[in-house]
Amino acid sequence: MVDDLSRFHGLTRPQLMSRIRSRGNKKTEIALLKILREQKFTGWRRHAKLPGKPDFAFPRLKVAIFVDGCFWHGCPRHYKPPTTRGAFWEQKILTNRKRDRRVSRELRAKGWQVVRIWECALVGTRRPATIQRLQRYLAPCPADAGDLPPAQHH
Ligand SMILES: [Zn+2]
Repeated sequence: MVDDLSRFHGLTRPQLMSRIRSRGNKKTEIALLKILREQKFTGWRRHAKLPGKPDFAFPRLKVAIFVDGCFWHGCPRHYKPPTTRGAFWEQKILTNRKRDRRVSRELRAKGWQVVRIWECALVGTRRPATIQRLQRYLAPCPADAGDLPPAQHH
């Protein structure tokens, strides 16, 4: 079991266990934080008291962002069930996915837009598409237009 799991993402068992215990994943959160800063998106809060504790919440825009770990949330590209105790893990991931869907529904019912991003989409070739996706939700509407001086009247 240890070998199977540590092969995933090259985690040692203590690292893996701490990932099980702690919510979310610092590294992926930081990767997203970097994108938010780069794109100059502002107004986010970390771990706001909302259903599912979104990784980043934008209260003004009512956008909630979750970064889903490829293993824990069963990414279709990267999730491979460990070969031992396969049924256990399958059930575990299934439960996580169910919870993800429930949380998304709860947030949407409260008027939030929910964005779920796979851990693997934050880096590499898929990063630009992820940025575009975020822009659709977070790009400030051309607020600057409102700051233009009023047209001159003669
Ligand atoms: Zn993935």
